[in-house]
Amino acid sequence: MKSVYLAFRAAVLHFLDDPDNDLESPHLEYFPDGILLTHQGYIVELGAAEQMLASLPADCELIHYPDHLLIPGLIDTHIHYPQTDMIAAYGEQLLQWLETYTFPTERQFADKAHAREVAEFFLDELLRNGTTTALVFGTVHPASVEAFFEAAEARNLRMIAGKVLMDRHCPAYLQDTPETAYTDSKTLIEKWHGRGRLSYAVTPRFAPTSSREQLAKAGELLTEYPDVYLHTHVAENHAEVAWVADLFPESRSYLDVYQQYGLLRPRAVLAHCIHLDAEDRACMATTGTAAVFCPSSNLFIGSGLFDLHLTKEADVRVGLGTDVGGGNYFSLLRGINDAYKITQLLGKKLSAFQALYLATLGGAKALYLDDKIGNFAVGKEADFVVLNLKATPLLTRRLQHCQSLHDQLFAILMLGDDRLVTASYVMGKAAFKV
Ligand SMILES: [Zn+2]
Repeated sequence: MKSVYLAFRAAVLHFLDDPDNDLESPHLEYFPDGILLTHQGYIVELGAAEQMLASLPADCELIHYPDHLLIPGLIDTHIHYPQTDMIAAYGEQLLQWLETYTFPTERQFADKAHAREVAEFFLDELLRNGTTTALVFGTVHPASVEAFFEAAEARNLRMIAGKVLMDRHCPAYLQDTPETAYTDSKTLIEKWHGRGRLSYAVTPRFAPTSSREQLAKAGELLTEYPDVYLHTHVAENHAEVAWVADLFPESRSYLDVYQQYGLLRPRAVLAHCIHLDAEDRACMATTGTAAVFCPSSNLFIGSGLFDLHLTKEADVRVGLGTDVGGGNYFSLLRGINDAYKITQLLGKKLSAFQALYLATLGGAKALYLDDKIGNFAVGKEADFVVLNLKATPLLTRRLQHCQSLHDQLFAILMLGDDRLVTASYVMGKAAFKV
């Protein structure tokens, strides 16, 4: 009989709390030669190999990854699975990009077989990039969410998704109504929320495509189901912000539209948050609403530069997202790379520790899942990634010239992408392996 204990030996790094930009932060644990011990998919112990080898359970299977770094599974807090086939679309900014590329692509998700095929590819791609949990947009079609949850459940992945609510300012073929938005979402919540590792997110696309009646229905759903998520976009692009000001003159700001309909609360997660003011940030902090930093789409569709420092100084929870297909890659390692460059353009710093924290424990906190995932605390779910520190000749060479752990991790993050991912483990089992 196969052992139920699995031990993974490699260099191991994880965070106990937010390290900020402190290069000497006490909030991380690093074992150059460590062992992560799991039992039936949960973390049992983490420590130095030297100490743990002698005391491993007798029937424990030991898997050794020399020259590899083991980190918690990456968490993508904002991504659109239906946009997989239109990633890397040329030449437009947000509003025209939606019209030209996004809406025609999303139309195809009325067909559940199509949705399922894309969902399988999408999950393969997440795992190939080391992402084990994501907060995911579907399309307006309930079938898109059914297909996604079925695919995620078969792989035992911790995933959050929802049907888009959109009853105006879009093609007729993608429109729902306040009433169908409510009933379709309710049916999906009843079936999928809290089933295994899956959770549901009430998902208005953004304020311009929902009527007041529909936003009120979204608020009703959140009142009826207080532990579901709210997932939407806010203040991404200047033209979009101006449009919202025209559509909702009664609101103080774009964010305030959501506040007026009771959508800001713990487990509300807002992508972008680029063009906000201090009052908006204070409102997000007091309501427990999280912001998602989407570096690749900030740059790719030219929306602007998210100010991580201002947002964190306001005590807002922040996660990292790829925003595929507004972002042009699935890799959160590449996302960290662009996040660093955006903070540089704002004249600020982003340490390697802070960056990796955002993609792991920080993301888990943004999603209120830090009691389950995000680091290697005993009892948490054993989702983790194994990175090859000799994946490329340049990385191998650069790592020979490191003076400190921070220097080493920074080089890994700046030179890293999917080529580094040797394996992604989900509940202690390999879900992807090179
Ligand atoms: Zn998005």
